[in-house]
Amino acid sequence: MYSPVNTVDPLTQSFSRDWFVSEADRRIAFEPDGQTVVSLDVSDFKVINLKYGHQAGDRLLQLIFQCVSNELQPGEIAVRDTADIFFALIVCPSREIVLERLNRIRTSLEQAVRDEYLLQSYPELRFGVFMPVPDGTAVEQMIEYANLARKNAPKSIVVGEGVFYKTEDYEDRRDEKVRIRCLVDAIAAEEFFIRLQPSVRLEDGAITSAEALVRWNKPESGEVLPGEFIPLLERYRLVDRIDRFVFREVCRLLSEWKAKYGRIVPISVNLSGVTIQVEGLLEDYQRVCAEFGVNPANIELELTETAFLGDYDKGRAFMEKLKEIGFTFSLDDFGKGFSSLGSLSELPVDTVKLDNSFFGSKEKTEKSHIIVKSMAGLAKALGCRSVAEGIERPEQLEALRKTGCDIVQGFVFYKPMLPEDFERVVFKGEKIVQQ
Ligand code: C2E
Ligand code: MG
Ligand code: MG
Repeated sequence: MYSPVNTVDPLTQSFSRDWFVSEADRRIAFEPDGQTVVSLDVSDFKVINLKYGHQAGDRLLQLIFQCVSNELQPGEIAVRDTADIFFALIVCPSREIVLERLNRIRTSLEQAVRDEYLLQSYPELRFGVFMPVPDGTAVEQMIEYANLARKNAPKSIVVGEGVFYKTEDYEDRRDEKVRIRCLVDAIAAEEFFIRLQPSVRLEDGAITSAEALVRWNKPESGEVLPGEFIPLLERYRLVDRIDRFVFREVCRLLSEWKAKYGRIVPISVNLSGVTIQVEGLLEDYQRVCAEFGVNPANIELELTETAFLGDYDKGRAFMEKLKEIGFTFSLDDFGKGFSSLGSLSELPVDTVKLDNSFFGSKEKTEKSHIIVKSMAGLAKALGCRSVAEGIERPEQLEALRKTGCDIVQGFVFYKPMLPEDFERVVFKGEKIVQQ
């Protein structure tokens, strides 16, 4: 009689996943010691299929199943699940033995691929391992743990410690889900607000513009900085909700100032590299400007170079559109980590924000001074303004004056402040005390 549990995979002759689960269950109940679940797949299997054709891809799957099966001892089992994913239940007394055995599978597959001239390079097997089996963990759950470990495993030719499941990995993810839900609720509940940090002209101390910086007013704990939530929102591709909120707030403020004081101060807003990938974003921003009667020339969009790394052509098209609408563009965090002078010449940059790593420790001052001076000169020659970010100490100002970097954004002048305080300082000429 037909039994789905015993279905044989026509390609590899493997039994089914259901068979694996019920067999593993039985074997673990009989002999729990050292039982280890292995999940494995091939990195970029789709690429192999594309490059060498489906026939070669199919043959590779057969060879993998053969190599895994050859490694099995009596009482151990393996199956192909779907696509290029395989599971094995092996009995191992220690992690070292697991690694030894997985590396043996890896090298025997390499040998088989070489013998058949199947591919031009070795396929890279990715392993995930769950061991030891604690009492009462269902096999399906063990497979999930092994799968998770496989997806988290670092890329490496030799199979190493990174393949083992760690409880934290799973807990982190669960925790992350809770955090992202909490953030989405907070966005819906409008718990975010902005602070404005002025930029000051060194020459006369005048405030030339300000940067809008988002904050979360978390009911349980008070003000939360963006570093705590922007990266998570980026991972879940939800960060444009925050960026749009900030942009709207800025437009609202600009139109309010215009009505109240007859003048405004240009504001810059940050855009995540994830946000700029959202289709039609700039058109939406343009509409918001029109709604509030704001001239886009009074809004500067701040982006870091890394925002363009994914797709340079797309980045360039974005910049062209940004310029066409009339926004100005600021290259943020220049000099932090990866930075290339090429971006300065290739992108239509209006402002370069020099990262505070240039102005950091005292020992670095001499050399940093030379670099900042050259950077400021270069920026000027290319027709951009340069802003020194994160300046905290008065003695840094003295050094800066000699570099030609004319604008400063840093705690030495002002910390990010509430819009009402900004208004008092800029439009009413009041002095405020910041903690
Ligand atoms: P950023 O755009 O480079 O903003 C400057 C950061 O430096 C701000 O931190 C500011 O408070 C801090 N800062 C300014 N002067 C000083 C100083 O003298 N000393 C020190 N130690 N820090 C100073 P903040 O507000 O925590 O923002 C951190 C980053 O979060 C921002 O870096 C930006 O990348 C991101 N961010 C802020 N608001 C938004 C937003 O609305 N959207 C997006 N996508 N990212 C945002
Ligand atoms: Mg910025
Ligand atoms: Mg910055």
